Amino acid sequence: MSAAHPQPPAPQTIGFVGLGTMGIEMTRNLLKAGYRVQAFDVVPAALQAAADAGARSCSSVGEVAVGAALVVTMLPDTPQVQEVVLGKGGLHAHPPAGRLIVDMSTISPQAVRTMAAALKADGIDLLDAPVSGGPQGAKSATLTIMVGGDAAAFEQARPVLAAMGSTINLVGTSGAGQTVKLCNQLMVGINLQAVCEALALGRASGVDLAQMRNVLLGGSAASWMLDRLGPAMIAGDTAAGFRIDLMLKDLRLVGELAQSLAVPLPGNALVTTQFMEARAHGEGGNGNQALFKVYDRMCNRAG
Ligand code: NAD
Repeated sequence: MSAAHPQPPAPQTIGFVGLGTMGIEMTRNLLKAGYRVQAFDVVPAALQAAADAGARSCSSVGEVAVGAALVVTMLPDTPQVQEVVLGKGGLHAHPPAGRLIVDMSTISPQAVRTMAAALKADGIDLLDAPVSGGPQGAKSATLTIMVGGDAAAFEQARPVLAAMGSTINLVGTSGAGQTVKLCNQLMVGINLQAVCEALALGRASGVDLAQMRNVLLGGSAASWMLDRLGPAMIAGDTAAGFRIDLMLKDLRLVGELAQSLAVPLPGNALVTTQFMEARAHGEGGNGNQALFKVYDRMCNRAG
C-alpha cells in the first residue's frame, strides 16, 4: 500500500472472559461493532459458540489479554472474578496492553474495591460495570451499564461499552456501579413478588390474566417485570433468562451490603426466602419469573 493510500487503523482487540447467557451476546455485539475479540470460558461449548460468532478462542485468561486494549469479564459471582483477576495465571499477572479490566458481572462492591486497590498499585485500572436488561438487552445491545471507577478509565472504556449497551453512566468511584446494580436487583425482586401476588389474586378471582396484564400496563402498576416477564408467568413458562440461582446470589449481596450499613430491608428478606423455597424445589436453574410457582404452591395450584 502506497503512502497515498494509508491503511485504515487496525481494529482494537478486546479480551472477553465468560461466554454464558450474557457474555456470548455481548461478544457478538463487539464483533458486530468491528472489534476483534479474544475469548475464553472454562466450558468448551461456550468457547465454541464464541468461535462460531467470529471470536478467536483462547486456552487461558492470560492468552485473552495479549495485545488487548482491555479485558471484559462476565462471570457468575465474586469468587470467579477474583480467580480470573487475582488468581494464578490471572489478569493481575497478565494484564492487557491497555492495562484496563472491565468487570461486568454482578459481584460484591467491597470485593471490587479490594481488587481495584491491588491492581491500581501495579498501574492497572479496574472498572465495575454491571448491567441490567437481561439476555434481550444483551442481544439488542441496549443494556443499562452502571460504572464505578476512575473517570479516565471510564472514558477509555466508553466506546467499547457503547457496543454493548445504550444507557451508560459513571455513577461513582470503585464499587459504586455494583452498589447501584444491587439497588436495581432489590427492586427487581420485590417488584417480581408484587406481580406474583397480583396474578395469584386475579387468578383466584377468575379474571382473565392476560387481559388484566394489558390493563395494568396502562396504569400506575405498570412495570418492566409485568411487561417482560408477565406473559411467561401467566403461561407457566419457567425457561431461564435470568436464573433463580443468580437472583439468589444478587439478593444475598444486597443483604450483605445492607447488613454492613445497618439498613433494615424486610422486603429483601421476604423475597429471598421465597426464592430459597423455589431453589429447594429444584428450581434454581429456572428463570426468575418462576417465582410464581411458589405462589402456585402456596395457593395449592401446583401440579
Ligand atoms: P452464566 O452462568 O450463563 O455465564 C457465566 C459464564 O462464565 C459461563 O459460561 C461459565 O462457564 C463461565 N465461567 C465461570 N467461571 C469461569 C472461569 N473461572 N473462567 C472462565 N469462564 C468462567 O451467567 P450469565 O447469565 O451470563 O450472567 C453473568 C453475570 O451477569 C452474573 O454475574 C449475573 O448475575 C449478571 N447478569 C445476568 C443477567 C441475566 O439476565 N442472565 C442480567 C444482568 C446481569
